[in-house]
Amino acid sequence: MRSVCCSAPQLAGLTPYDPKYLPAEAVLSANENPHDVEQEVRHEIMREVKRVALNRYPDPLANDLRDMIAEANGLDRDQVLVGNGGDELLFNMALAWGGPGRTFLNLPPTFSVYEANARLTNTTVANVPRRADFSIDEEAVLARVAEGGIDYLVVTSPNNPTGELAGETFVCRLLDATDALVMVDEAYFEFSRQTMRPYLGQHKNLVILRTFSKAFSLAGVRMGYLLGDAEVIREFVKVRQPYSVDAVSQAIARVVYANRAKFEPGIRAIIEERARVVDGLKRIPGVKPYPSDANYVLFRLENAGIIWEMLYGRGVLVRDFSRAPGLEDCLRVSIGSREENDAFLRALRDAVMGKCDLEVPSA
Ligand SMILES: *Cc1c(COP(=O)(O)O)cnc(C)c1O
Repeated sequence: MRSVCCSAPQLAGLTPYDPKYLPAEAVLSANENPHDVEQEVRHEIMREVKRVALNRYPDPLANDLRDMIAEANGLDRDQVLVGNGGDELLFNMALAWGGPGRTFLNLPPTFSVYEANARLTNTTVANVPRRADFSIDEEAVLARVAEGGIDYLVVTSPNNPTGELAGETFVCRLLDATDALVMVDEAYFEFSRQTMRPYLGQHKNLVILRTFSKAFSLAGVRMGYLLGDAEVIREFVKVRQPYSVDAVSQAIARVVYANRAKFEPGIRAIIEERARVVDGLKRIPGVKPYPSDANYVLFRLENAGIIWEMLYGRGVLVRDFSRAPGLEDCLRVSIGSREENDAFLRALRDAVMGKCDLEVPSA
């Protein structure tokens, strides 16, 4: 079928990304940090932003920020690249490694942006689905890359929305087994404390994605970065929009990165709350939470779509995956403040216990 207005044919089956934001008292749907940047750091941000020359183009590659990230990771500037959110870097990967006649290996269920970018760039998508418990089917992935023809893949660790880490041994075997570019998406690395960074020196085909959106409370600013081999980074630089990361965002990110130790107590609190939320979920009959190393928990229950509505009616917004392939009857809750988590658990318990009411047809 021809698409409207004669836009490119690969757009025909695509639906625009929809984060499904709705106003709510407890917004626990987008894995954001429940705490905004603290006042002291905000003041420093204001001072830095005041000094930005707004009439001048920004440094295209944000070299000051790049140097800070490189130094913290024991790397050189040319092994780091920043982007307008991690999302831009994911799109750039599809531009640089995908395209007609090329193949992306996807491990669903996972972050839907990868597949959307592949389709947008006319890249073939090969799937190796996860097992029933959402762990990666490691032997099947290794067998598929051994067949050849894969140009790039993403291993999300921890995986979004399911929460579990990828095995370090598996990722190393994968890196040895293929010349394809292997991105390890570590968007939630600050909550899992696990990283493949020590392996960068040994594997040219490894690239790591990180973001300021989750642990560093900057989802509103749009800042992500890559760590990788200088030659790989060079290919990413070729396809990127020169000024995608604006001067104000660069200034804000520099201050936040320099103050990143101040985010540690908040990260620790989220990790502690995560255990409490999982425990609370386990105590509700018929609710099965999956283990998580990130700042969210996926859980399965009957009538998930209806329960989602009941939670929303109580002012609690979670993410509904109940109609997503492989995630039937699943909802994902982001870890919020202690009060928000309590409100969520209370509302869910009431919704599950009062389930019989739903049988009564509404007028
Ligand atoms: C949030 C997220 C990102 C990046 O998000 P940005 O806000 O664009 O930096 C990347 N990958 C996964 C799996 C995520 O959940």
